[in-house]
Amino acid sequence: ANKPIFNEDGQLIEILSVGTNITALKQTEAALRESELKFRRIVENANDIIYMLTPEGTFSYVSPNWTEMLGHDPADVIGSHFAPGIHPDDRQKCLEQFQQLVEHNRPITGLEYRVHHKDGSWRWHISNASTVRDADGRMLYCVGITRDVTERKQAEAELQQAKEVAEVANRAKSEFLANMSHELRTPLNGILGYTQILQQNRSLSGQDAQGLDTIQQCGEHLLTLINDVLDLSKIEARRMEIHPSEFHLPNFLQAIADLFYLRAQQKGIAFLYEPLTDLPTAIRSDEQRLRQVLLNLLGNAIKFTDSGGVALKVGCLNPPDMQSEDPSTSPSSPSPSCLLRFQVEDTGIGIAPDDLEDIFQPFQQVGDHRRMTEGTGLGLAISRRLVNLMGGELKVDSTLGQGSTFWFELQVSIVDRWQEPSLLKTAAITGYQGPRRKVLIVDERAENRTVLTQFLAPLGFEVAEAVDGQDCLEKARNFFPDVIFMDLVMPVMDGFEATRQLRRSPEFQNTVIIAASASAFEHDQQTSLNMGCDAFLSKPIRYKHLLATLQNLLHLDWIYEDSNAFDHPEFPVSSSDMALSSENVTIPSLNQPPSEVLKELIQLAQMGAVLEIQERVRQLEQTHPSLISFTTHVRQLAENFQVRQLQDLLQRYES
Ligand code: ADP
Repeated sequence: ANKPIFNEDGQLIEILSVGTNITALKQTEAALRESELKFRRIVENANDIIYMLTPEGTFSYVSPNWTEMLGHDPADVIGSHFAPGIHPDDRQKCLEQFQQLVEHNRPITGLEYRVHHKDGSWRWHISNASTVRDADGRMLYCVGITRDVTERKQAEAELQQAKEVAEVANRAKSEFLANMSHELRTPLNGILGYTQILQQNRSLSGQDAQGLDTIQQCGEHLLTLINDVLDLSKIEARRMEIHPSEFHLPNFLQAIADLFYLRAQQKGIAFLYEPLTDLPTAIRSDEQRLRQVLLNLLGNAIKFTDSGGVALKVGCLNPPDMQSEDPSTSPSSPSPSCLLRFQVEDTGIGIAPDDLEDIFQPFQQVGDHRRMTEGTGLGLAISRRLVNLMGGELKVDSTLGQGSTFWFELQVSIVDRWQEPSLLKTAAITGYQGPRRKVLIVDERAENRTVLTQFLAPLGFEVAEAVDGQDCLEKARNFFPDVIFMDLVMPVMDGFEATRQLRRSPEFQNTVIIAASASAFEHDQQTSLNMGCDAFLSKPIRYKHLLATLQNLLHLDWIYEDSNAFDHPEFPVSSSDMALSSENVTIPSLNQPPSEVLKELIQLAQMGAVLEIQERVRQLEQTHPSLISFTTHVRQLAENFQVRQLQDLLQRYES
């Protein structure tokens, strides 16, 4: 600024010049403008909307891309409250969070809500916001940033929907399979039932008996397949249950080993069963499932091995100190347990590294196509899941061309006091002691009723039949049965309801009711027991289990055709035995045939008299049913004229 200075005469004598250096100020102003411009450019070019809200919740600023993202002009938005633009379902949550922000300065992070677009649609937004406050902490305004996530939300919704559809489909599939299994088991009940009855007829010719055996084997095979498919669907629907029971471990393993020893021998390869350590006498585990896994692994090992051999190795990894555990002195101490390792080794074709995971997938078969026809590709998928259910993990190690090792480890509790149940076969039972008992068979299907009648009537039971629950109630009032076989799924009135009604009337309070069903669902079993049934038998009915159940519930003493042949007139009946009756084909232990019979068979084998051997074996099957494993294999070898192997086998028994 310049100021002229005049003297008294009014003459300009000088000009006062005051100069202030404003360069720095100018520079700061420029920097500020530039930074604001930069900020504005960022805000205006951002893919997100930046907004400012007053403490009351009205917009004081929205960035220009509001127009692009939500249609409206920012000028129309400024001054309006944020809430009306938000979807009614999300509004409350947004208001609450805004209140928290205003009152407690709690920043908003990742808040998802729908906001109205000018075109009428709802867009999904995700927002972060915080406040700017003065030195006293008073809120000046809120600044926030919001992004459109509609596409992500849509994709998520579609995914969720697809998942739900898949789950429904999966449930429907399991349901379908379970129903199919019911439908398939029902006719099998007739087939296997009659086979069992006819097999007791000793006057059958060799050829007829052989035909019957074939029917039975095919029926059993079909049942195994149905059970396999069902197992998998049950596991996938998380319906598979584990039923632990107590069993003799060395016997259990020996029976499996005996079976595979024979199979390996037939194939001309070696089989080795090697307990790696001392094994506990009896353990508690799901015997049936464990057997199923070992049968699958050993079956595969033999199937995929053409030379060399297969080994089953079992060891206890942390042998417990059995002596120090005395349950009588410390009743509360937990029963000892041990970690068992089961290992199946083979010197077979091996599995390529890339296939090692695939083999555990359902219906996956790898390698040589010619071998695939022999299986379904379900075995390992089921085995892996079963081992998981029992608390272990099925693992594999394999080298192509050299062989494979499958193994798993299970923690099992050890049973201290073990009593061996005795076994008995049904073929020689001809009746029972005491008064005649009355049986009412309730089943909608005539063939199921007839097959049971034909089995029970010759044993001295007085039998009546009913076709459904209603009919059962009427017949029961006139017939007064001692025992009722109750099918569960029937028209008019089902077995559950009939049982419930019977139990309500005093005269049937104590009548024995045995539920029989082809149902695949374990809860049906439980429901039938809850309704008042005394036992449950799965169809197809195994007569051994049927007789065991009758003996148990009616306290029967059986009469045997040749009482000397049977030392143990008791059935091994445990609840798990009954519950699991139809699931799998049990493997009888390899009992020793009488030495004179063995001598005779060896003589016949030396002469190559295979037909006589077949006949002799057939008699043996009748008189010594517990030798089933022995007789089956002798007969198979004899039927195939494998005289050398037959001689070897018989000699092994003799030594
Ligand atoms: P399946 O034996 O009925 O085909 P699995 O699920 O038991 O079905 O086995 C799946 C596949 O894994 C078999 O088809 C085979 O290709 C492979 N596999 C299983 N065990 C062995 C083995 N011990 N050696 C070689 N390959 C095997």
